[in-house]
Amino acid sequence: MKYGKVKNYINGKFTDALTSASLDVVSPIDGNLLSQVPLSGADDLDLAVKAAKAAFKEWSQTPIKVRVQVFFKYKYLLEQNLEELARLVQEENGKTYTEAVAEIEKAIELTEFACSLPQLITGELLEVSKGIECRIEYVPLGVVASIVPFNFPSMVPNWTIPNALTLGNCMVIKPSEKVPLSVGRIAELLKEAGLPDGVFNVVHGDSTIVEAICDHPDIEAVSFVGSTKVAKIVYRRATYNYKRCLALGGAKNHLLVLPDAIPGMTAQNVTASMSGCAGQRCMAASAMVAVGKVDHIIDQIVVEANKVIPGDNLGAVISKESKDRIEKYITDAETQGAKILVDGRNIKVTGKENGFYIGPTVIDYVTPEMNIAKEEVFGPVISIMRTNTLDEALAIENANPYGNAASVFTQNGGAARHVINNASAGMIGINVGVPVPREPFSFGGWNESKFGVGDITGKSSIEFWTKLKKSTTKWNPDAGVNWMS
Ligand code: NAD
Repeated sequence: MKYGKVKNYINGKFTDALTSASLDVVSPIDGNLLSQVPLSGADDLDLAVKAAKAAFKEWSQTPIKVRVQVFFKYKYLLEQNLEELARLVQEENGKTYTEAVAEIEKAIELTEFACSLPQLITGELLEVSKGIECRIEYVPLGVVASIVPFNFPSMVPNWTIPNALTLGNCMVIKPSEKVPLSVGRIAELLKEAGLPDGVFNVVHGDSTIVEAICDHPDIEAVSFVGSTKVAKIVYRRATYNYKRCLALGGAKNHLLVLPDAIPGMTAQNVTASMSGCAGQRCMAASAMVAVGKVDHIIDQIVVEANKVIPGDNLGAVISKESKDRIEKYITDAETQGAKILVDGRNIKVTGKENGFYIGPTVIDYVTPEMNIAKEEVFGPVISIMRTNTLDEALAIENANPYGNAASVFTQNGGAARHVINNASAGMIGINVGVPVPREPFSFGGWNESKFGVGDITGKSSIEFWTKLKKSTTKWNPDAGVNWMS
């Protein structure tokens, strides 16, 4: 076991959980045991919340111009340790090294945004009548929680940590039990950057900790990123307990390809979107709607997909269960009449025979009723459906319950605008396969891809991590003059 048992991080110290129960952490690359993660309980969470609560008074009263200095240093440390951090992400998640580097680079960009927060939260002030001023200030909430998924062990935690903490909150984070290692390094780097003890705490575990977070009376807000099934559970339970909650869920993103799309660029984008991070991205395209005569583009997608090599420029999926589930989707689609153009099932990567690899898979003649067309597959698989008109394609896209992203490939500006206006998704791409907004633009889907108000990153996150203090002040200006004399 390369890394030993993972510890919680409470009040600036790595500590054993109060329980001895644990789960194995296995590397998707070769199936080897990397570590064990404790199945902490509500008592462990309570210790972390107590530490966060104790740290809150001083941290929240530290001016933001001082708080933000920690994140300037943290950003520098992410840059200095980029290679090592990327290797750790790769090891525990199974993505390629290049993808892991991109993940850390995104964490750096998120931190860079947090460093600009003092410029963005200057509040408002107006003299509303003689000697009377109304003022609005953004103030932190208190102890907040962040619950994160397996697919971005560093980026998704950094969606929440820099913004929430710079804005003056103290946090307890619950990493995914499948990838618990990267958050431990984040804790070390935050400490090295000068973050006071107790401001950031880590409690490892499974659904027990998530439920305890939703129930804990001293946690003010819960941020969740994961599947829609769990997002619904968390959103219901946290808001039932009167907490602010933003819960991001799963996705089923459609790419609409029109006959005038540029073939090479479109094929490369479709392939990169469906196979990047082995399809384990909430922004991955898993459905393509071919509008009219686009067979020449589909032929190129097949060529591009065959350049994606498992174990080389295609990483592993997270577990044996994921691999089996994804392969079953492919087999079921085939049985129901779809045509497999590129088949990623049953592949072995030489030297990594115990890894959880699936090759890129392109399936044509999928129909909207098939499970593979309706459900989130979360693997390197694209299902192609065919329509005659753009509105039929939009109808397929809009019939799915999710609403994270949708893209169109076309050279027609009117068609592109039609998709922006009519696709029921929070993030739209025009000739872009993975339309993730860059900072300071915010990230967040619609429909069953997100529950709660606002977005998780960018300017929108300020609203989530703060509340408004409104004060009205009355002074007699003449009294001041008299006193001075
Ligand atoms: P998941 O929902 O299984 O787990 C997410 C977190 O919830 C983990 O920390 C896990 O321990 C906890 N959890 C799991 N089951 C639970 C339960 N029954 N009750 C309470 N807590 C529970 O998600 P995952 O498999 O780790 O991640 C993949 C999913 O996350 C995909 O659906 C993907 O689309 C989604 N995702 C969405 C976004 C987004 O921005 N919308 C971003 C990344 C990932």
